[in-house]
Amino acid sequence: MKRLVILGGGESGVGTALLAKEKGFEIFVSDKGTIKEKYKQVLIHHEIEWEEGNHTESKILNADLVMKSPGIPDKAPLVKLILEKGILIVSEIEFASQFTKATIIGITGSNGKTTTATLTHHILKQELNVGLAGNIGDSFAKQILEKDYPNYVLEISSFQLDDIVDFKPHIAVITNITPDHLDRYNYQFENYIASKFRIAENQTKNDYLIYDADDEVINDWLKNNSIQSTLLPFSLTKTIENGAYLDNNNIKITIDNNQIIMPTSNLALEGKHNIKNAMAASTVAHLLKIRKQTIRESLENFQGVEHRLEHVLKINKVQYINDSKATNVNATYYALESMETPTVWIVGGQDKGNNYEELFSFVNEKVKAIICLGVDNEKLLNTFGGMVDIIVETQFMSEAVKIAYKVAEAGDTVLLSPACASFDLFENYEDRGRQFKAAVRNL
Ligand code: ADP
Repeated sequence: MKRLVILGGGESGVGTALLAKEKGFEIFVSDKGTIKEKYKQVLIHHEIEWEEGNHTESKILNADLVMKSPGIPDKAPLVKLILEKGILIVSEIEFASQFTKATIIGITGSNGKTTTATLTHHILKQELNVGLAGNIGDSFAKQILEKDYPNYVLEISSFQLDDIVDFKPHIAVITNITPDHLDRYNYQFENYIASKFRIAENQTKNDYLIYDADDEVINDWLKNNSIQSTLLPFSLTKTIENGAYLDNNNIKITIDNNQIIMPTSNLALEGKHNIKNAMAASTVAHLLKIRKQTIRESLENFQGVEHRLEHVLKINKVQYINDSKATNVNATYYALESMETPTVWIVGGQDKGNNYEELFSFVNEKVKAIICLGVDNEKLLNTFGGMVDIIVETQFMSEAVKIAYKVAEAGDTVLLSPACASFDLFENYEDRGRQFKAAVRNL
């Protein structure tokens, strides 16, 4: 019997344990933190051995295979020990995918993964039996065990890609690549880029890579490296023969001379970045031969995803928008770009070494007031102090929203788009977004 050690007792760890048990592995789950009660119950119910608050090396270094949760960095001492022993470490998508023959659509990128994956799933599910997994909802492993869908849309982070061996999506999407998570990549942007492109490393010419052809980082990498995949780029600025582009206000997608045309005015989601996300998702759907009418209708009625430019309420003709998921500058760039009214901007949190320069022209043009919401607002105050008439700071969401309410006039927008992580004042970005919405509803 093969011994599988699972590091991390979260959604992917417990899902992997269940699938592995079914496949006859001897399993040990080890989590240095605490395991959530609901996951403990599952492990106990299935008689899977586990520990928390500690890693017992004698029960780990005798593994044949280790599945590591994406949250655990390679720098962790235990991971080093495992590697020194020559034990193979894989991620959940690597482990789970060997047990399915499903067609896999893998979506990665620095921003837009969840939106694009959810939208792709929304279109495909109209005509196909398809699961949505990866960083979303129930783990991929658990869905393979319980549902065994013939198709999966997977949202895939670079951390999941770091530990693949044979994983090969039939259709891969890279939405964009901008610096993020560099602490996990020795502060080398190249390492992070290479990690993203591993989504295509096992692809052959019968597989597809859909990517943003307006992204110079992606173009450069493709110029200097070779992959087998059939390329299907999308662009807002160039004409694309095979792939998707914008012609006046129409999205045109061509695959093997078969073209679909959709007016952007009908898209449910706003903003240029969402035109890109729609292009990527529709290219997947077109490849999988979803009817054109279905693709068009699905793009029109897609409800969006919580915390991503989510319209909360209109109060006294002021629109409140929750973009709490904007945890880096690039995401906020697209949020500000899509603003069509004077904007009261709530920004701040845990700064990841942000360079705000690319936001300056939008701030000058559209932002009438800035509310800094973080433990340390120094950098924001210094950076934007001279650019707007009103700039204030607070450590409380309720106060931030009250100030915004006072400053905003009819026709304005109040936008929460922090460009920073949330961990200084909130549990996570969902908590931040929910507190924002609650404060708005309390006005
Ligand atoms: P991810 O799953 O990659 O974090 P999300 O879909 O959750 O991406 O979106 C994260 C943030 O990035 C949101 O603020 C969203 O509005 C913004 N965003 C969405 N799509 C894109 C894109 N294609 N380019 C840049 N920013 C985007």
